[in-house]
Amino acid sequence: MQNAALAACGMNAAYIPFDVHPDRLDEAISGVRALGLRGINVTIPHKTSVMALLDELDESAWAAGAVNTVKNDDGRLIGHNTDGAGLIRSLADDLAFTPNGQTVVVIGAGGAARGAVAALCRAGTRRIVIANRTGDRARELAAWMTSRYPRTELTAISLEEGMISSLPQNIGLLLNTTSLGMKGEEIPGLNLAALPAGAVVYDMIYAPPVTPLLNEAERFGFRSANGIGMLVGQGELAFHIWTGTFPPDGLMKEVLTAFLGGAQPARQLS
Ligand code: NAP
Repeated sequence: MQNAALAACGMNAAYIPFDVHPDRLDEAISGVRALGLRGINVTIPHKTSVMALLDELDESAWAAGAVNTVKNDDGRLIGHNTDGAGLIRSLADDLAFTPNGQTVVVIGAGGAARGAVAALCRAGTRRIVIANRTGDRARELAAWMTSRYPRTELTAISLEEGMISSLPQNIGLLLNTTSLGMKGEEIPGLNLAALPAGAVVYDMIYAPPVTPLLNEAERFGFRSANGIGMLVGQGELAFHIWTGTFPPDGLMKEVLTAFLGGAQPARQLS
């Protein structure tokens, strides 16, 4: 989708994947400077470790504690996090969901969750409950975000059998940020029957396009979306950071959905 956008904008540039071993990340970043690359995306497992190798972090990366986009500004490397903003855009576009004043349950406390929670706090979410397999990681994330965004009430619980019974009643959004579902796994202890009518369900996973969580959401009649819209949103924002311009509207989504076999981002139910 990045290459399609570059071509559509008439830019003489290419977007190329490099598989970098964690032990050689510092060399790879030196390579970005030495080769004068305009920018890079950074993904698992480098999103946090890359931060120490950059010259500057913008607010989105600093707050999330994770970088997915780096801009090379005449040799000065600036880290950004467009994952969270991509999610907020997708929630609006795919589910007509606005976080301001809402209660949100976030499943997971990894890199994707960090970007999501920071962006949800910035978007005015009233209350966030973070549920993670490793409870300490959820508590650390809640404490980190509370220190940065004191207006949002953040709590942490362990992802375990029956955890849904301890969740608040007025959930507006249930958000899966874990990799559970990529291979057909269910989220343990989650019973969507306990969600209030009108809640929406978002799964950051985009391959497969329909996870067990999204199947459950459909079964119970909740509006739901997969992570295609977020992937597109973070990509459009990264493109803008590197080039100063946005790709033609809808182009990245069209290219990505075709690549993923025609999978649609959202399932709107009446
Ligand atoms: P990560 O930092 O490795 O975190 C993984 C998370 O999943 C942790 O909360 C981990 O819990 C949990 N988890 C993994 N296996 C589990 C299991 N068997 N049972 C319970 N919990 C489990 O990875 P990440 O970067 O956050 O990415 C997570 C997912 O988000 C991936 O599927 C990725 O593709 C997706 N993602 C999508 C987009 C998008 O644009 N749509 C962007 C970023 C990420 P513990 O803390 O207990 O280990």
